[in-house]
Amino acid sequence: KLPIVAIIGRPNVGKSTLVNRFTGSRTAIVHDEPGITRDRLYQPSFWRDRDFLVVDTGGIVFDDDSEFLPEIRQQAMMALAEAVAAIFVVDGQEGITAADEEIGNWLRQQNVPYFLAVNKCESSEQGLIQAAQFWELGLGEPLPVSGIHGSGTGDLLDAVLSCF
Ligand code: GDP
Ligand code: MG
Repeated sequence: KLPIVAIIGRPNVGKSTLVNRFTGSRTAIVHDEPGITRDRLYQPSFWRDRDFLVVDTGGIVFDDDSEFLPEIRQQAMMALAEAVAAIFVVDGQEGITAADEEIGNWLRQQNVPYFLAVNKCESSEQGLIQAAQFWELGLGEPLPVSGIHGSGTGDLLDAVLSCF
């Protein structure tokens, strides 16, 4: 049975784009409209000769206030319950949103190691500044990544795979 890594985060932060990086394919569908996803739930992924499954919680739909609704929590909980680690994805270009704070507060109480990936950090200099804002979430070190360019994703996966 392969270890499962849960990808969580509000819509449009680039979860599916990151999943495509991890799988080395384009099986997850990237959308411009927030909240829409047709991703397969479990995607076989690999890094440094290690195989694992990525579960994308992209099906999560937020209401207009972007509240972390009970059903959303339920879905994320199910994904997290079977996961050995979680990657919490946020948008470095947008900065912290209320939904990020809610998800973060919830995640901190879960019994699963997590990593904070600050996506859309294409430029290394700007990326560090963008990522640094997310210390505020109180979830440890924000790791700048770009799902589109691939920068930082190796360091992220090294960190994630070190916990299983
Ligand atoms: P999801 O809803 O979290 O799964 O997000 P998607 O992967 O569908 O991406 C949402 C939007 O963000 C799309 O328009 C992507 O092209 C864009 N996006 C994803 N990753 C990056 C990135 O690393 N940099 C930038 N600039 N845009 C990104
Ligand atoms: Mg998605």
